[in-house]
Amino acid sequence: MFRAWFAIPLWQRVVGALVLGVITGWLWGPDAESIKWIGDFFIRSIKMLVVPLIFFSLVAGVAAIGDLRKLGAVGGRAMLLFLVTGQIAVWLGLALGTLATNFQLFPTRETLGTPTTPTPEPNPTTAIDMILSIVPESPVQVMADVAVLPLIVFSLLIGIGILMAGKDGEPVQKIFDSGSIVMQKVTMIVMELTPFGVFALMAWVAGTMGWEALKALSWLVIFNYVGCLLIIGVMYSAMIKFLAKLPVIDFFRGIVDAMAVSYSTASSNATLPVTLRCAERNLGISNSVASFVISLGATVNMNGTAMYLGLATLFGAQIFGVDLSWGQYFLISILATLGAIGAAGIPGAGLIMMALVFGAVGVPLETIAFVAGVDRIMDMMRTTTNVSGDAAVATTVAVMTGEIDRAEMVSADDV
Ligand code: ASP
Repeated sequence: MFRAWFAIPLWQRVVGALVLGVITGWLWGPDAESIKWIGDFFIRSIKMLVVPLIFFSLVAGVAAIGDLRKLGAVGGRAMLLFLVTGQIAVWLGLALGTLATNFQLFPTRETLGTPTTPTPEPNPTTAIDMILSIVPESPVQVMADVAVLPLIVFSLLIGIGILMAGKDGEPVQKIFDSGSIVMQKVTMIVMELTPFGVFALMAWVAGTMGWEALKALSWLVIFNYVGCLLIIGVMYSAMIKFLAKLPVIDFFRGIVDAMAVSYSTASSNATLPVTLRCAERNLGISNSVASFVISLGATVNMNGTAMYLGLATLFGAQIFGVDLSWGQYFLISILATLGAIGAAGIPGAGLIMMALVFGAVGVPLETIAFVAGVDRIMDMMRTTTNVSGDAAVATTVAVMTGEIDRAEMVSADDV
């Protein structure tokens, strides 16, 4: 039986678990909550990998690039792609929101009744706080807090230090090379838990979903899915086909594990080890580019979240009768991009960032209380979009900088 289980490719086991989980949750109902702990066990296991994996892989990756100019080229291209795709995503959200408003698809304030959760307090985080939080005050603290962005900064600096040290840095470089290989093996072990974790999380979500709340907000949920699917199916596909010039099907086949894990966990950070593994093992991206671009992307590149922030602002504006000018649309596009960059890759982060955008254009924060009850189902799709975007940008940058091994890329029939 063991042999038969392992003979099925992991991605097929994971996708099967996802479908079975939904069916089980549907049939079982709210009692499916009793197996959520299996999902939590899985999330804890992959989260455990995030810090050592980023630290070892990124330091080893930067040292392996061997040339600071090349590192700049990789980082610069990735940031440009993150920003351009982020802007397209917000405007897509705004367009979908305008469409829904014009056709009066969103519910009225009266039909919604009282919000299911309390209205959040305004979030006093400023742009300066955001900048300061990138600097690691204490590397140990950063690791203990699993703070990805300052950890990236610290790892980049150690990698650059190794490069600058030349021959004297080689022993340290060897430790990181070896640590990176060991962490990839540990990831392989933990990924065997994926089908069980995905099954339990999907059963929990499907079993405990508030169907009534979902019905009232169905158009918001539908537009959230349509927006995300357009980003994945059109924008990322076009990026892979025209910029990276690679087969689109092979790309998605290569990242299917990461897509399933992101959908069930709703956390880019927790999915990071899986995304990294898919990028290196299935897409043939070098460790240098994959570790750098994907770790950075997990917190900075959130196109699903950016799209949603645009859409949700128009949703709030409609139910509370707030008129928005073109100038405010532009303000939303900037703030939603910043919000998506600032959002941590954890469940519900997009919800917190709504306060940033809503406050600036006069949409009441009470909107957040209305949508919070159904956020998880939308968050799952946003996160899948965010994670797929990290992989798409990493692939494109790897092609641009000659850091991809096409022979290593899985084709549609050999995952
Ligand atoms: N949960 C998402 C992520 O981890 C962020 C969001 O809430 O939109 O990527």
